[in-house]
This record gives sequence, structure tokens and C-alpha cells, in this order.
Amino acid sequence: MAPRKLAAGNWKMNGDLAALAEIDALVAAHPAPGCEVLVCPPAVLLHPMKARAGTVIALGGQDCHANPSGAHTGDIAAAQLKDVGAAYVILGHSERRADHGETDAAVAAKAAAAHAAGLTAIICVGETEAQRDAGETLAVIAAQLDGSIPARATAANTVIAYEPVWAIGTGRTPTNDQIAEVHGLMRDCLADKVGDAAAVRLLYGGSVKPGNAAEIFAIPHVDGALVGGASLKAADFGAIIAALETA
Ligand code: PEP
Repeated sequence: MAPRKLAAGNWKMNGDLAALAEIDALVAAHPAPGCEVLVCPPAVLLHPMKARAGTVIALGGQDCHANPSGAHTGDIAAAQLKDVGAAYVILGHSERRADHGETDAAVAAKAAAAHAAGLTAIICVGETEAQRDAGETLAVIAAQLDGSIPARATAANTVIAYEPVWAIGTGRTPTNDQIAEVHGLMRDCLADKVGDAAAVRLLYGGSVKPGNAAEIFAIPHVDGALVGGASLKAADFGAIIAALETA
């Protein structure tokens, strides 16, 4: 069976209680979406958002600690995300790799913790502009996948997001051929790491908007999107969801 397509929103460090009105609007406009819809808000909004999102929209965290509990001030355990209604957690986003020095090994440890807690890990990979210019993109992505995916990853507990660092929040996107090349490579790489590799959902992320979503969703091995800025407004995210529903 083809994997269920996934429209995932990453609110990053944006949003407050008033912004939950956007979730109400999204649920009202898409009460029975034809794809899976996920929103990953700041952790403080997970619990109140759950009451609004119900079963229509899945929720996710934006990071978790590799340990199940303990003296880690400011961090959040995977089980705590699960406890307040999360089903997913984004791991290894390029902003965390850059801001917090997260290595592939750290991402793999966090993903293992997410799996142990019953969360699906969305593992992010992506090249910088300098790496693309140097012709290193495919090698960088292969190495990140190799180092960031833990043992016992499956299509049920793992989603991969290809997010070129230079495309995030910039309004720039790779060409369709460039996305197709990386997604094809990722599918091949997964065959060595995951038993049911063909069923692992591969998301594209980086300046996905209502205006380019349909074109991106038509690219082979693109099973959905990880959306930053355009996920903050119900109208924009709803248009992206509509594009995925008909892809
Ligand atoms: C992201 O940060 O995951 C992202 C894809 O951001 P944007 O859509 O704003 O480029």
C-alpha cells in the first residue's frame, strides 16, 4: 500500500495561545483531510492545541532529549511529548544542528528515544549552499542518513525530511530535478537501513508555499512536505494540504 501522504507544519519558536485560532480554522476548513496533517508547535502549546486539534490534526514536538528523564534542565523527554498528545517529533532540524551543535549521532540517539516512547521521528537532513556549490549534496545527504537513523527504524516510526539549508525561510527552492535526485538517493540509502524502505515517507521542506506545492508534490518519491512559515496561517497551510490531497 502506498504510504499515507503527510503535510507537516513546523511552527518553530512562533505562536501563542491566541494563535490556536489558526488550528480552529484549519480543522473547520479540513474536517476530514485526504492526507495526514501534522502540526509541531512550541512545546508549551502542545497540550492546549490537542484540545483544538482532536483527531483531525496530529501533533508533534520539535525536539526531544535522548534520555528518558533526569537532570537536564530545559529539555523535554519523548515520553513527556507523548503524554501531552504528540505522536511525532522533529529531530535534527538544521536550525538545531546549527544552533545547538547537534551531530548525526545525537540525532540518532534522540530518534531511538522517540521510538522507545512510541513517537514517530521526523529526521531532517539537508545540505548547505556551500556544499551544493561544491557538488557534495548527495554525499552529505547519504552521510547524514547513515549517521542519523537509529537501529530498529521502520516506515511506521520514521519519516525523513529533505530540507536544503539554503531553501529554509528564503523563498528559494531547488529545481524539480534536484529534489527528485535527492529523494531518489534517499530511497536507495534507506534500503540499507530500514526493512520496509519503500514505505518510508519522504518529505520535502524549504519554502513550500501554496503557489509551488502542487508542482513539488508531483515529483517522484515526494510523499509530503515539512512546512515552516506557511504553516502558521490556516489559509496557507490549508492550500498546501489541498494540493497534497489531490497529488
Ligand atoms: C522548516 O524550517 O522546516 C521549513 C521548511 O521552513 P520554511 O517552510 O519557512 O522554509
